[in-house]
Amino acid sequence: MGLFRTLLVLAGVWLALRLFSRARGAPKKDRDAVLPDMVRCEHCGLYLAAHEATRAGGRYFCSPEHAEAGRIP
Ligand SMILES: [Zn+2]
Repeated sequence: MGLFRTLLVLAGVWLALRLFSRARGAPKKDRDAVLPDMVRCEHCGLYLAAHEATRAGGRYFCSPEHAEAGRIP
């Protein structure tokens, strides 16, 4: 009976460690999925999501107006 109880305790500890590590790892993974890639407007320095930015010549801008303004040297 002593061996059975030891195995039961070990299984409980293993299960608790598994649940704990999963609970600790999950929020970081979710945060990475929610946060989009941030880029900086080359003209005014505003930070915005890459999918919302205007791209011109491999550079990022916050609006088509700033893309036009940034193109002029
Ligand atoms: Zn801008």
